[in-house]
Amino acid sequence: MSFLSSKIISSVRLLFLSALCGSRLVAAEYYVATDGNDTNSGTLASPFASIQRAQKEVTAGDTVYVRGGTYKMSEAMIAQKKGIWADVTLLNKSGSSGQRIKYWAYRNEKPIFDFTEIKPANQRVTAFLITGSWLHLKGLEVIGVQVTILTHTQSICFENQGSNNLYEQLSMHDGQAIGFWLGKGSNNLILNCDSYRNYDYTSEDHKGGNVDGFGFHPPKGSNNNVFRGCRAWFNSDDGFDFISAGSSVTVENCWAFYNGYSPKFESLGDGNGFKAGGYGSTPADRLPNPIPRHVIRGCVAARNKASGFYANHHLGGNDWFNNTAYRNSTNFKMLCRSADNATELPGYGHKMKNNLGYKGRREVTNLNESASDVTGNYFNLPVTITDKDFLGLNDADLMLPRQANGDLPLIAFLHLKPDSDLINKGMDVGLPFSGTAPDLGAFEHAVK
Ligand code: CA
Ligand code: CA
Repeated sequence: MSFLSSKIISSVRLLFLSALCGSRLVAAEYYVATDGNDTNSGTLASPFASIQRAQKEVTAGDTVYVRGGTYKMSEAMIAQKKGIWADVTLLNKSGSSGQRIKYWAYRNEKPIFDFTEIKPANQRVTAFLITGSWLHLKGLEVIGVQVTILTHTQSICFENQGSNNLYEQLSMHDGQAIGFWLGKGSNNLILNCDSYRNYDYTSEDHKGGNVDGFGFHPPKGSNNNVFRGCRAWFNSDDGFDFISAGSSVTVENCWAFYNGYSPKFESLGDGNGFKAGGYGSTPADRLPNPIPRHVIRGCVAARNKASGFYANHHLGGNDWFNNTAYRNSTNFKMLCRSADNATELPGYGHKMKNNLGYKGRREVTNLNESASDVTGNYFNLPVTITDKDFLGLNDADLMLPRQANGDLPLIAFLHLKPDSDLINKGMDVGLPFSGTAPDLGAFEHAVK
């Protein structure tokens, strides 16, 4: 057989195979722009006006590029109204394994979705509801999401109900809604997202007691979800809240600060940095079995109104590794409860390693050390902690702009000086470290 004929045969075979699979060989690209129109063809030169319209065209592997500028969202754009919910943009189409559908900010442009004008009476607004799976959202910004209901309620910027989704460099701010809410689904990664200055001043007592930066509240079976490199500040309730979660979550290298306060430091809602667990007054027969065990590691909680790291009446413990708490009312509050909800109990079953706290009004409370594994932390190691241990103590550093790739900013705040006695005082918990052992706290001192 000649080279040419073998080449023809393989081309024919390839065509046959691709026809068989019904898939295209080249992923398509679509564009959305503020001066676009949903009757356009969706090319760069003739963009759509909405992500909702672009979704109609996409299949697995395709990309929707969203151009920069402010998108004024209107009530006519609400994709579905279901009961008390008004879901404005509904992403209900799925990609497939290895072929995510991508909704990305175009190059370095900044698309901002402004929901200020969407005020459906007696409805909760969900700015983006994601029920699809294998999606990747990147670089989208949501502002001004409203609350119209005067009794107990909540609106949400991004709500995930799918699996295998990646949320990257999203920014949710200056609205009345919760930033990101994981309602259900597995294998989702929330990476390098920011949620800040969100405050519901409309409902209930106008204290914003339901508006967290990030919420994790799925039923049982929602596994392998991770929050990484996310920040939450000046949210009226908590930074990160996992109350009523039926599954466990990992939160790593995240920062929560100034929560429970307005930007003028007026007192608002609960104000915990990381509220890791709890079920309120749920009776024993309705608790998840097993009770999930959350992992909180490499995180920073600073100047939150209430606790930096809080077990919130959880039943059983969490894994708390290499976290740093600074100037919270209580830096580490490990409170648990009994299964029958009859009594509060000092925290049991916790595993705490290599944690560091400084200048809390209270440091570690509600912890049953003999019923937990808590050797190797600042509160029980022979270390002394003073200002001289740190390269910087300016907590405003936490708000600095991210690095170009979306990673957290490089700051001096709470990083250890080379001669700090907190260096190499920890134990190996499976996280990377330099020198002879892990350091205490969230920032490992790099040994050159
Ligand atoms: Ca909360
Ligand atoms: Ca070290």
